[in-house]
Amino acid sequence: MAPNSAASLPDLAVSIKGLVKRYAPNKGQAEGKLALDHVDLAIPRGGIFGLLGPNGAGKSTLINIMAQLVRKTEGSVKIWDIDLDRDPRHAAAAIGVVPQELNIDPFFTPKALLDLQAGMYGVPKAERRSMELLEALSLADKADAYARTLSGGMRRRLMVAKAMVHNPPVLVLDEPTAGVDVELRQQLWAYVRELNAQGVTILLTTHYLEEAEELCDQIAIINNGKVIACEPTAKLVSRLDTKEVLLTLGADLASVPAALTPFAAELKDARHLKLHYRPSDTRFATVLDAIRSTGIEIVDLTTVETDLEDIFLELTRRQPAA
Ligand code: ADP
Ligand code: MG
Repeated sequence: MAPNSAASLPDLAVSIKGLVKRYAPNKGQAEGKLALDHVDLAIPRGGIFGLLGPNGAGKSTLINIMAQLVRKTEGSVKIWDIDLDRDPRHAAAAIGVVPQELNIDPFFTPKALLDLQAGMYGVPKAERRSMELLEALSLADKADAYARTLSGGMRRRLMVAKAMVHNPPVLVLDEPTAGVDVELRQQLWAYVRELNAQGVTILLTTHYLEEAEELCDQIAIINNGKVIACEPTAKLVSRLDTKEVLLTLGADLASVPAALTPFAAELKDARHLKLHYRPSDTRFATVLDAIRSTGIEIVDLTTVETDLEDIFLELTRRQPAA
């Protein structure tokens, strides 16, 4: 199912509404884990979309529901406009999934594995492109090797090839760079970008902001089974582009000196002043010069950088208590 005639292309590659997953309780548990708590997600066609969240957030659960490996509790999932409940077979044909857990049969060769997978999807022999995929993922020289001799990074790339055998318009990668070294990571990303340039919509999960930032044009943050942010990458990252400077003063201060107002200065109490600046457009020296110009006596100075943890905390704090 190649992305083809423009007229029939959906606006959304994936549309998820009110998705709930509660796992079955373990022995002795009254209630199973609520892994997804009414998730809504609209993934536009044509982009690279990042699903970012800490371990245990619910990312794999969401992916595995899309891949029909996990049964949802409630809600609706449409892939390429095809409802998972109404037409699971066509929904499956529209998506390729690289799962987080790599289970490769150790006795298959990469070439045989891809041929088999293509057969499972009913791809006619003449249209199979196992070697082409292996080449694209720098695995051609391993085509006939036993899968068990492949390194972690090679296995990951083989799984990407496997997910693409039926040429789906949507490719989903669950933590694609776990256990992949830096060089291979770059190769994998280059391939993902190339697929995207060819029109494949990409969804990837990661718990590294850096990875999402480098690849994705839009990022959703998921925490405790809830989507707590979903916005263009640049906008999300601009929230990160802020540093705090905390000053401990040697004498009481009654009000914020005018020279410090450009730094959104706040007087926490008479002896503590907090400033903010954006490292991308303001040098720390400029901040220091402004502080010196006021003549206030500084006993201590600390700077704090916002990181992903802070964003998670900030965003989760804003949520009404469950
Ligand atoms: P992530 O991929 O973001 O790390 P997961 O979707 O794997 O998160 O897990 C979300 C939550 O659901 C976690 O608390 C996890 O322990 C729980 N969970 C995942 N799979 C199962 C399962 N098969 N049975 C019970 N609980 C599960
Ligand atoms: Mg996971």
